Amino acid sequence: MTLKEARERLIRNLIEKKFLKTEKVIQAVREVPRELFVPEKFKKFAYADNPLPIGIGQTISAPHMVAVMTELLEPKKTDKVLEIGAGSGYHAAILSKLVKMVYTIELEHDLVISARKVLQKCGCKNVEIIEGDGNEGYEQAAPYDKIIITCAAQEIPKRLVAQLKDGGRFVAPLGGTFVQELVVGTKKGEELILETHFNCVFVPMRKGKK
Ligand code: SAH
Repeated sequence: MTLKEARERLIRNLIEKKFLKTEKVIQAVREVPRELFVPEKFKKFAYADNPLPIGIGQTISAPHMVAVMTELLEPKKTDKVLEIGAGSGYHAAILSKLVKMVYTIELEHDLVISARKVLQKCGCKNVEIIEGDGNEGYEQAAPYDKIIITCAAQEIPKRLVAQLKDGGRFVAPLGGTFVQELVVGTKKGEELILETHFNCVFVPMRKGKK
């Protein structure tokens, strides 16, 4: 089976399981070659529905998790999105097909460099990777229509809430080190209205070292 065939099989599977729901999100998954975002030795597993190691103890999320989080974010062509945890750059690449601009923050220098390279190779021009601590957000481009956190946060950092537009939406794995709940939040004035989905497991959101 070629990688393209494996990708189509994975997409069919994610649709059947209702992880993928909307045509534009399906199309975005179809357009981004996940094999470019994983280390060479894992390319043959690029379309298994699993997280994979990307070095420095970090992982690229499983395709169903990228699908669910993207659907829950309800991306629109006019959106400016902030992602915390660029990692491989894969999720940012998917989002770039669906929104106007993606800013993504990554703590690990080596991942910043490799993600920048692969996003350039894929022609994703509307993604900017910022090296830094996601707890601080990225004030320079705020406010955001949507915020997505792709590492496990114990709580939503206040700085991030402040950088979200009124009526804005965020998706994040909230909870402890070993297991979290996938949470969708909407900002209504000073209040955050939270909706909890299902359990998930993400690498922890760490405190910035710089
Ligand atoms: N969205 C990624 C998945 C990344 S895994 C992808 O598509 O591949 C989570 C990432 O969050 C890791 O790369 C980790 O280094 C990063 N991370 C952890 N704590 C962080 C923080 N405080 N600020 C920014 N990035 C952080």
